[in-house]
Amino acid sequence: MQSADHAARDHATWSASATARNWTCAGAIALNLRNSKPEVESEASAWGTAAHQLSEKCFKTGKDADDFIGTTEKTKQRKIAVDEEVAETTQVYVNYVRARIQTYVDEFGEQPIVHHEQALPLDRLKGPFDAGGTGDTVIYFPRWKLLEVVDLKGGRGLVEAADNKQLRTYGLGALLANRGLDVENVKTTIVQPRAPHKDGKIRSETFHVADLAEWTAELVGRMKLSKQALDEFDTTPFAAWCAKWLTPGNCKFCPQEGACPALKQKALDAAHVWFDDLDRPQISNSPSFDTPEGLAADLDMLDMISDWINARRAYAHQQAEAGVAIPNYVLVPKEKREVWLDDAEEKVKQACALLSVDKYLNPAKLKTPKQVRKALGKAKESLVAGLSETPPGGTNLVRADKTTRQAIPSGVDRFFTEV
Ligand code: SF4
Repeated sequence: MQSADHAARDHATWSASATARNWTCAGAIALNLRNSKPEVESEASAWGTAAHQLSEKCFKTGKDADDFIGTTEKTKQRKIAVDEEVAETTQVYVNYVRARIQTYVDEFGEQPIVHHEQALPLDRLKGPFDAGGTGDTVIYFPRWKLLEVVDLKGGRGLVEAADNKQLRTYGLGALLANRGLDVENVKTTIVQPRAPHKDGKIRSETFHVADLAEWTAELVGRMKLSKQALDEFDTTPFAAWCAKWLTPGNCKFCPQEGACPALKQKALDAAHVWFDDLDRPQISNSPSFDTPEGLAADLDMLDMISDWINARRAYAHQQAEAGVAIPNYVLVPKEKREVWLDDAEEKVKQACALLSVDKYLNPAKLKTPKQVRKALGKAKESLVAGLSETPPGGTNLVRADKTTRQAIPSGVDRFFTEV
């Protein structure tokens, strides 16, 4: 079993995670190269990195993720506390990889070849950019002639396994990085514990290497288009260049999301709002505006617009932090909760004890129901049966085709049922 370091990942100009974006928007690479910004690690991204780092610890030590609850993972720019949610997310992925290995060992009495954090460069394609990514786990099962890439997704945004261009890029990279192996099929697997999906938390796609070769030709074609967009960037008027090369559609996680003129235009078009008179924005008045169908169309549209609004705000903030004066706006310190200093605990405890105010000391807290059940084991977990609950938390309105949760009656129907 071989392992590299998740935090040390480098991003290629054409990174696997940007394949879908570049596929849709040939100008994305050029815009990102010409308008590059310092990398800012979001909380969500740091959270995902922490889960990956934790999984590496599990694979190295043979421990489970909840053995690390209470520790801290340092990412590029943040510190993430390992809590139950990080541990549970990580454990689903660790369990899947361990189970795949064990199934093979049980069947053949031999170990498959396993790499964690394997670099998967695509330089052998001789494309116009340095390209590739890093496979979370790559497993070669010799007797099955199968190469599998397993990708942990820590986010809540649903990711499909079928026709996933990021995963196909990983699959291709895994073939190139592990040349000389007898491979017939490549399997790509997403483990996404925090996003409910009708097919479950773990979803895969398997394809024959011949299909992957065919797809590779398409990939190289897309790379060449992006190179053409880059070559034309400096010689074409910007507006004309944007109209020709920028195609919104896969903008989530594009570093230009908050600055891109094409995405801004798409958001404004979708909202049917004219901002030429800022005091009196006008919202279009279509006959279907207040029907259930109109609401459904608006909900789809609002997701896109709110993503753009968030990205635009984040971009403005980043510009202000970089020293750009934005009229009528100022930077102010965030108001945060007061906390004890790292080394203050003993002194504070002594002070509280002196004053006999031990109510200021938190008594030992019970571990979570899941942790207690695990500690008790199957034989004794019945001792705590019925002693925990998942409290009801209101309702969410979600797309029916993107949830596995059981639909419930409306509040009005529930009220009259109860009456
Ligand atoms: S935000 Fe969207 S349209 Fe703009 S460059 Fe990025 S991917 Fe292309």
